[in-house]
Amino acid sequence: MIVRVLGSAAGGGFPQWNCACSQCRGVREGLINASPRTQESVGLSADGEDWFLINASPDIHSQIESFGPLHPGKSRTTPIQAIFLTNGDLDHCLGLLSLRENHRLVIYSTESVRRGFTDSNVLYRTLQRFAGHVTWRTLKLGVEEAMLCADGRPSGLTVEALAVPGKPPIHLEGLVSPGDPELNVGLRFRQCTNGRVLAYLSAVGRITTSVIEGLADSDCVMFYGTFWSSDELSSPGFLKKSAEDLAHWPVGGQTGSLAMLSTITTPRRVFTHINNTNPMLREDSTERKIIEAAGWNVAWDGMEIRL
Ligand SMILES: [Zn+2]
Repeated sequence: MIVRVLGSAAGGGFPQWNCACSQCRGVREGLINASPRTQESVGLSADGEDWFLINASPDIHSQIESFGPLHPGKSRTTPIQAIFLTNGDLDHCLGLLSLRENHRLVIYSTESVRRGFTDSNVLYRTLQRFAGHVTWRTLKLGVEEAMLCADGRPSGLTVEALAVPGKPPIHLEGLVSPGDPELNVGLRFRQCTNGRVLAYLSAVGRITTSVIEGLADSDCVMFYGTFWSSDELSSPGFLKKSAEDLAHWPVGGQTGSLAMLSTITTPRRVFTHINNTNPMLREDSTERKIIEAAGWNVAWDGMEIRL
């Protein structure tokens, strides 16, 4: 399995367009030891020929162009067979609307995520230009199934979706039940030939047994690393809410994910979906040293992992 990180930042990217915090300004002006990052997305392939995207970020155009194997081979074609959505946040699905060029799309998501994107969404009509423009394939929680290419061929991979604590996207607050387990999922991908497993949990509000089960017996975990601390947005006065108020599980601290996941045995451990305020982004920061000492890495755009 080839895992190619296309984007590794949280919503807003790094730097964020309206932010002049020390990190955004620093990376913009080349003053800090850190690289710019686009919003979280991954390309996945069993054979290097047929590719699947995990999430369709608002940066999808530049992300596809940044990686040759995702380019069309001839005429108007694409090696991208299908797109997985882990939740309905705009930084995970807005890119779908950028793929509107009269091309058949296959999207894997839970039924709740599909409804959240399509219901009462007049912009979705741009993906309904002809019969069969979009095919939705429904992910059922806890069911491992074969991943199929757009034309139904086997891809050599399987997928299983697991409910993970999160919260509804901002644009659906008050419209959907916040307790719906289908609103936010982690995905486990398994390569059929060698049995290797990628556990992809890029949005996790807190630790639960489903989170631990999602990571079990995996060969690589890509895990939610949005904030380092609870007060990362409130302390500089950006927002009067803690990370936990926003259903974000911080990495650092006694109850952070780094400490709580210290016993997992997955050999390859990577934080992704990193917010521009997170000090882990700086390669020479204390926080970066702490996670690396614990055997974790921070994903970067262009990182490639082979399982
Ligand atoms: Zn910033």
